Amino acid sequence: MAVKMTRRDLIRSLSASGLVTAGSLLPIADLLAQDLKPAVRGPQPPAPRAPLAPARLQVNKVIQPEREIAVLRETDVLVVGGGPAGTAAALAARRLGVDVTLVERYGHLGGLATGGLVLAIFPLYDRDDKQVIRGIGEEMMQRLDQLKFGIVDRGQAPLYPVVDAEAFKYVLADMTLASGMHIYLNCWGVDAIIDDRNAVKGAVFESKSGRQAVLAKIVVDASGDGDIYAAAGASFVKVKDNIGLVSRIGNIHEVDMIGDDAEHQAGATGAPVRKRPTQGAPVTTLDGKVGSHTPVEGVNWLNMKGPVADGLDVDDLTALELKHRIALWKNIEQVRKKPGDESAFLLETAPQMGVRLTRLLDGITSLTSEMTEKQKTHDDVIGYSGTYANNPEFQIPYGALVPARTENLLAAGRCIATDFKVADTTRLIPVCWVTGQAAGIAAALCARDGSQPRNVAIERLQEELRKQGVHLG
Ligand SMILES: Cc1cc2nc3c(=O)[nH]c(=O)nc-3n(C[C@H](O)[C@H](O)[C@H](O)COP(=O)(O)OP(=O)(O)OC[C@H]3O[C@@H](n4cnc5c(N)ncnc54)[C@H](O)[C@@H]3O)c2cc1C
Repeated sequence: MAVKMTRRDLIRSLSASGLVTAGSLLPIADLLAQDLKPAVRGPQPPAPRAPLAPARLQVNKVIQPEREIAVLRETDVLVVGGGPAGTAAALAARRLGVDVTLVERYGHLGGLATGGLVLAIFPLYDRDDKQVIRGIGEEMMQRLDQLKFGIVDRGQAPLYPVVDAEAFKYVLADMTLASGMHIYLNCWGVDAIIDDRNAVKGAVFESKSGRQAVLAKIVVDASGDGDIYAAAGASFVKVKDNIGLVSRIGNIHEVDMIGDDAEHQAGATGAPVRKRPTQGAPVTTLDGKVGSHTPVEGVNWLNMKGPVADGLDVDDLTALELKHRIALWKNIEQVRKKPGDESAFLLETAPQMGVRLTRLLDGITSLTSEMTEKQKTHDDVIGYSGTYANNPEFQIPYGALVPARTENLLAAGRCIATDFKVADTTRLIPVCWVTGQAAGIAAALCARDGSQPRNVAIERLQEELRKQGVHLG
């Protein structure tokens, strides 16, 4: 349990660490004080140790002995994964007054939209350029509107907004902390907890604190990869897709153009060209590509398609991380050869690998391309996807979030139940906001009533979605 630090304790500890001199407390100090345990620098008194149970090598097999796992927390709704889907799910659930715990493996929130440097937010609009994705995602963008360098190209359909990753991390930290949810960062979900009926009861996490459990009434798997539903035994389809590594380039004053090389070359030598930018379309080759503009003048983001690989295979992930970074370095060297771009530099390669799709849930409804192309309407609609890649806008059914058999569990984000073709749209950031928000509300309703996700009263779910600003048509 977190211990509150008094102001005096905080000043003392900051003074001891040289962060503050007498009478000049940093303005962020009160924020830093929240939830910190009092700490003294240097050797610490011995802490009670959990009984050791290391894995054992037995006749060429590594055996993990059975052991009891400490319970870190009990909660109503546990959301695993703090990307677009997970943050939307956690915020939406919290608004229904239930206790929410959000767990994320990295040290920031936002998933691929921040750590993956995927900065373009599409598809938001229908074919008439009307914005069909609103709700919590729209609230996040409104928060970004208020920040200098937070977001550009808002409300300019068919152009899509582009965000700044750090501004977005800030907004998400602020919104989640203010909501009163409980957050664990740097905490990796490694297993599901199930009871003797195979119903999910929580998840096991690994962190610097060791292996700990969070018990929950309902779990939302927003890991993007369906890590928790796979561990719980839910059925799914494994898929492979292109894996890239997105980056940002600094000191750059042109953007890549779609198809028109002559125009592109003109941009390289003259004034910045802002006509027909790629809007984040992934490049297939890195022959001096400069990417698309961001909210910060002189900074571009460079999307990357990458080869098809297995996003669940540590060998593939390792090889691509290393090779992509080499390719991006060589790309920037090529960029610098262009007259006018001599000062361009590789500002940042994404800390988070660009994995698109890995697992697709077997849900009570699987959203198929036939349904989306014919714009099938669903009684259990939870929101829309905008039009993307020449496909029309379409409705998303709640059934695509609910596992076909496993109980107490919902999926949100890029790992929901769709076919591979539809997943190319449902994996996009605003659509992940939609499925996340609906999963969060459904989870909260179930936690309050003690009911199952498959039995959620659709009218109540839709009523709450409307109250939270979601467009249902
Ligand atoms: C290269 C690339 C380019 C793209 N371009 C665009 C674009 O231009 N526009 C657009 O809208 N979309 C784009 N997308 C798609 C979009 O970025 C993602 O599909 C979207 O962010 C998915 O959201 P999510 O919340 O489902 O998953 P993620 O964003 O992957 O978030 C999942 C979160 O869960 C965490 N996590 C994973 N496993 C665990 C675990 N076991 N325990 C705890 N935490 C875990 C992750 O660290 C992450 O924070 C692109 C994707 C890629 C890869």
